[in-house]
Amino acid sequence: MHNSVNFGNVKTAFAYKKNSDLKFTYLVFKIIQVPWMVKILTRSASYIMKYNLPFQELVKSTVFRIFCSGENLTEAFRTIQKLNQYRVKSVLDYVSEGDHDERTFMENTAVIINNIKKLNANAPGNSISVKLSGLEDAGFLKKISMRGFNTSPSDEKRYHTFYSRLDSICATACHLNVIVYIDAEERSTQDIFDHVVECMMEKYNANAAIIYNTLQMYLIDRLDYLKRVIRESEIKKYHPGIKLVRGAYVEKERELATAAGLKSPVFDTKKQTDEAFNTAIDICLSNPRVSTCIATHNEESTQVAIDCISRYNIINPYQKVKFSQLLGMSDNLTFNLAAAGYNASKYLPYGEVRKAIPYLIRRAEENSSISGQMPREAMLLHKEIKRRRKEKTRLPKLLKND
Ligand SMILES: Cc1cc2nc3c(=O)[nH]c(=O)nc-3n(C[C@H](O)[C@H](O)[C@H](O)COP(=O)(O)OP(=O)(O)OC[C@H]3O[C@@H](n4cnc5c(N)ncnc54)[C@H](O)[C@@H]3O)c2cc1C
Repeated sequence: MHNSVNFGNVKTAFAYKKNSDLKFTYLVFKIIQVPWMVKILTRSASYIMKYNLPFQELVKSTVFRIFCSGENLTEAFRTIQKLNQYRVKSVLDYVSEGDHDERTFMENTAVIINNIKKLNANAPGNSISVKLSGLEDAGFLKKISMRGFNTSPSDEKRYHTFYSRLDSICATACHLNVIVYIDAEERSTQDIFDHVVECMMEKYNANAAIIYNTLQMYLIDRLDYLKRVIRESEIKKYHPGIKLVRGAYVEKERELATAAGLKSPVFDTKKQTDEAFNTAIDICLSNPRVSTCIATHNEESTQVAIDCISRYNIINPYQKVKFSQLLGMSDNLTFNLAAAGYNASKYLPYGEVRKAIPYLIRRAEENSSISGQMPREAMLLHKEIKRRRKEKTRLPKLLKND
């Protein structure tokens, strides 16, 4: 494993993309760089979903094609196999957030369990992610969280059904040795998420981290939370699995807090979030009992983790430290990390286009913001397009000289 990974190596980063894919991706990134375009798309999204507008086809052939791995499992598995050829692992992500009815929750649970079995049988070594708002109504989970788990008998019964769904997913995953990342969503549901995920870790992480909680490091309270979980895991004798993200709902959290007349749970500045994220990396990687997934597109944080691996002399970095990026983003990190021998993966959302729209909106907004990834993504794609063009013109010359 190399301490210095060249994240500017675009040849390795985009080796899996054909010329036509490369140019298409570049074009789409250029389009979603325009903030007013993204604003229009975002505003029309709820109508697209509600009325099943033909606009879905446009979404499917553009952003969906870049950020999602397909509409069904067969298509998603094709992407898994392709990525595995480059030593890049996958985190299969069935898009199922924000559902509201009992039947869908049961169906989502069955799909996720089936995916775990399919991964174990056909693509061992790959993982899955779970959005808890796909297993129970987020409004209900928020209500229990806010009441400090003081529930009525009917709510108690409903909570147990939700708990059992998650338990059946985790039990299957543990039995088949497939890692499960539980995603973080809004702060209002996080207390209940923390509680259930800690229960799952206590139950299934006795020997190794199979179940991971996600910590959004833009939340002011997360460093204290991290320290508490690590302390408690020592007493309860389990291995904490910690996935670190910065957090995808900055504006929403601020708006919700303002509307409720509360202080925002999110740091005021990006710099504070960055510091908390990098401190969390240090805390996790310096503790031999913690397994960590560094889920970021930020190059500096990725380098902080690489430095920690060598500073703390981590003997089994492939098991203990995982790096992950979203499909369609920061290939320069994922593929160069994998080529250098690190455990690197892509989050692979798949499912119905309609259901993927909230996810796609988050990606488009993230990429259209001035401080976001977009200018860099486009720049890297452009660099590789130019490099291939140059290579194409150089080859005939070389052959002539021979
Ligand atoms: C593999 C993977 C899994 C993910 N899973 C989840 C998940 O489960 N839940 C979730 O919420 N997100 C998740 N995300 C998204 C993640 O939270 C970030 O939104 C995204 O990755 C951008 O952050 P960054 O670390 O990559 O990079 P950067 O571009 O360096 O950071 C951008 C982030 O910084 C923070 N930020 C920006 N401005 C400010 C400000 N003014 N004040 C405070 N903070 C600020 C925000 O969190 C913003 O998203 C995931 C990302 C990846 C790569």
